[in-house]
Amino acid sequence: RNILVILGFSCVIAVIALIAVGISQNKPLPQNVKYGIVLDAGSSHTSLYIYSWPAEKENDTGIVQQIEECKVAGPGISKYAQKTNEIGAYLTECMERSSEVIPVSQHQETPVYLGATAGMRLLRMESEQLADRVMAAVIRSLSDYPFNFQGATIISGQEEGAYGWITINYLLGNFIQKSNWLSLISEGINDEKTFGALDLGGASTQITFVNENHTVESPDNSLQFRLYGKDYDVYTHSFLCYGKDQALWQKLAKDIQVSSDGILSDPCFHSGYEKIVNVSDLYKTPCTKRFERTLPFDQFKIQGTGNYEQCQQSILELFNTSYCPYSQCAFNGIFLPPLQGSFGAFSAFYFVMDFLNLTSEKVSQEEAIRRIESFCSQSWKVVRTSFPGIKEKYLSEYCFSGTYILSLLLHGYHFTSNSWENIHFMGKIRGANAGWTLGYMLNLTNMIPAEQPFSPPLSHS
Ligand code: AMP
Repeated sequence: RNILVILGFSCVIAVIALIAVGISQNKPLPQNVKYGIVLDAGSSHTSLYIYSWPAEKENDTGIVQQIEECKVAGPGISKYAQKTNEIGAYLTECMERSSEVIPVSQHQETPVYLGATAGMRLLRMESEQLADRVMAAVIRSLSDYPFNFQGATIISGQEEGAYGWITINYLLGNFIQKSNWLSLISEGINDEKTFGALDLGGASTQITFVNENHTVESPDNSLQFRLYGKDYDVYTHSFLCYGKDQALWQKLAKDIQVSSDGILSDPCFHSGYEKIVNVSDLYKTPCTKRFERTLPFDQFKIQGTGNYEQCQQSILELFNTSYCPYSQCAFNGIFLPPLQGSFGAFSAFYFVMDFLNLTSEKVSQEEAIRRIESFCSQSWKVVRTSFPGIKEKYLSEYCFSGTYILSLLLHGYHFTSNSWENIHFMGKIRGANAGWTLGYMLNLTNMIPAEQPFSPPLSHS
């Protein structure tokens, strides 16, 4: 009887062992993960993003993930024009973070890209030599790491707009990859809707969306893409000097022209707020050239008066709408086709509207105006005590920034009370920052195929 019990017990063990072997044989192989690094060298800051994706699914839509964002401490790289020797140390912390996050075995094959935007475009306008020196120092520093450095360049405004549009539509899953039999049925019908992209930086702002008119009035603003087997006619424009920091410099330079005593009463700042500005700083940027005058003082004092209506009036003077050589324009004679569909508004559009609590889809345009109006009318003392943790520079400028965003969207781009509902303020999509960097990497690593990759009707991919 004992022998029978032992035999039965052995059988059970054997069956369990067989099941275990079976399970382990079906266990998926460890995934081969790839990584990529992109540095966004913006006008006010540099951020490093690390992306990862399964190697065997490189051509699929929506598989790239952002696994890290590292904010470089300090200002944008254009501020290093006179101290390029410090650029190496400036980039160290985030590059070392990349070495920790990415497995050592993958370092050599991980591409690194750096794209500089409008801050460097402006520096290049002032001095090509200074801009070259900054970029050379950046290239030297990034070449020193064990990664596969692919280059650092100043990207054009068109590229910035296009890659922002690609990023958000990739993350939103709008480049739907249908299985092959489905695409055969719908051949030629582009029924997938994409989102337009609204990007606000410190030095420039971009607007990019599918132009369903297909008429090319202004070739400079027109891009053609074929992505995943579909053609897209895309309108894009980057307004240099209309990022929120440069727009503020423009406004100050315009308004100070008429002051004789070095005092600037400014409705875009809270009452009780005061700040001294050096005239030399005001005229440092090419964006204020058109307002430059010989002033009878070297410094002036901003005194806030906190009035939304007057602030908007002053901002609107920065948009020239008196001439348009096309069927319709945004401002400054720049072509703008009729707005179509939904838009994602990110970067500073999001930071500012998020602070002002205006990102909810339920906030109408009228309500947004009312709330900014009320925020601007609060005294600086009240604002400062209400938001103790927030950087003073940002906090003091939210009244201007909110008013600027409303003015740009409603009067610059001609959104209306109705089409306001089509604007979606977004910081991240599926864990990745909305911005141009992901689209840039997808393009440079050839991860967006022009044609749809072949997949048989019943494949598991
Ligand atoms: P850029 O450096 O050109 O990419 O521009 C980023 C813009 O966003 C600059 O105007 C920054 O001042 C602004 N910004 C970044 N973070 C915040 C924030 N938390 N609140 C308000 N503005 C911000």
